[in-house]
Amino acid sequence: MGKSHVLVIPFPAQGHVIPMMELSQRLIEQGVKVTFVNTEVIHNKIVTSNWINKDGVDDDLRHMVSIPDGLDPCEDRNDIVKLAKSISQNMPGKFEELIESVDKEDDTKITCIIADFNMAWAIRVAKKKGIKPAAFWSASVITLASVLSVEKLIDDGIINEKGMVLKDEMIRLSDSMLPMKPTNMFWVCFEDPALSEVAFQIVLAAKQASELTEWVLCNSTTELEAATFSMYPQLSPIGPLLASNRLADQTGHFWKEDTTCLAWLDQQPACSVIYIAFGSFTLFNQNQFEELAFGLELSNKPFLWVVRPGMTKETATIFPDGYMERIGSRGKIVSWAPQQKVLAHPSVACFVSHCGWNSTLEGVTNGLPFLCWPYFSDQFQDETYICDIWKTGLGLNKDERGIITREEIKSKIEVLFNNGMFRANALDIKEKVASSIAKGGCSHSNFNKFFEWIHEKDS
Ligand code: UDP
Repeated sequence: MGKSHVLVIPFPAQGHVIPMMELSQRLIEQGVKVTFVNTEVIHNKIVTSNWINKDGVDDDLRHMVSIPDGLDPCEDRNDIVKLAKSISQNMPGKFEELIESVDKEDDTKITCIIADFNMAWAIRVAKKKGIKPAAFWSASVITLASVLSVEKLIDDGIINEKGMVLKDEMIRLSDSMLPMKPTNMFWVCFEDPALSEVAFQIVLAAKQASELTEWVLCNSTTELEAATFSMYPQLSPIGPLLASNRLADQTGHFWKEDTTCLAWLDQQPACSVIYIAFGSFTLFNQNQFEELAFGLELSNKPFLWVVRPGMTKETATIFPDGYMERIGSRGKIVSWAPQQKVLAHPSVACFVSHCGWNSTLEGVTNGLPFLCWPYFSDQFQDETYICDIWKTGLGLNKDERGIITREEIKSKIEVLFNNGMFRANALDIKEKVASSIAKGGCSHSNFNKFFEWIHEKDS
């Protein structure tokens, strides 16, 4: 086999960078050289969180490089509308220049580009440069199925040409697929209509680009989404892509992990701790944040809570008066946890989660029941999987003010702890998913086929 060099480009968000770094790691372990392309801002965050050295080279086969996203360094990247527009205007040209300079300077020519589906323009650039393209989808595959079915959804009058829902009734994308709510389609589930519109534009571009690639790699598994994969055989499950066992396993994280929580977990009884984390993006208003704090206090159980810097809309996150004194050592609060290690810890009993797809997979692979608190986009569909399909968790209801109250949180936690059905279902799914990444499993063999394809035309 000839030597291969793969360029990997994720969408600049934590939930996209982590699984694409894991995919890269798998390729590196097989001797493939990987150049990982972040935006400059993300590259700097990763460097600061101490994972790579400043030149971006941390081993012979892995190179971390960056190109600008087109916004000024101090501009707000949480404004996804602005960010997405700037990316599509500025990054394709910079990406082409990068390919040319890598090819000039590196002794191994780029043989393949793996582009995040949300960066579909990179697939066009690959085509233009005569490099084999592959796409990567980081969310659930049912979410991608709605993207690939956009024309049918428009023809059936479910959505209009701007992606807005016209009929809010349960639909099935095929007879064998699970029913889904049109309002759960990922480009619809944003509070801001401008954001929904931008997300829909990304969807249309991705759909077109998908026709240019032989491979659409998905961080999912047939055990979790069998009907969707059989409806779309062009999609290849290779997940779940979880952190491999290596020393430097803080792969692509934007914040430094606080590992002191692992020692704290060691001191807690088995299956006793509530773990609460809402990924990298979720924002809380102060009222809701306080209700959650009180709910955890009322639960009377040990808890480990990730309170990310900037998690509340206010400038500083403020806990209720006397909170820290009252919870004492029963509660551990960190700004970023080694989540995969936490979820695998025997002391953890359940996961209060925003249901981002990575968090969902990580909870599933550790056999944990969920309390679902979705924030936006595909997270509502993931909640449906957890609560209605896999039956491994519960949702939370808002009161008439739109708040999830402390009493609601306390009572749902009690149900999760007292009803063994959730844990039993979770353990059952855990076993099934584990078989897909083991030798002979579907995700395992798809990855091997993809690896062979990377080499095919160059050998
Ligand atoms: N994560 C982590 N530590 C934390 C919180 C989150 O390592 O304290 C990781 C988590 O394991 C997951 C990713 O961040 O891999 C979040 O991705 P997800 O798709 O769940 O949510 P998003 O951040 O995209 O909303």
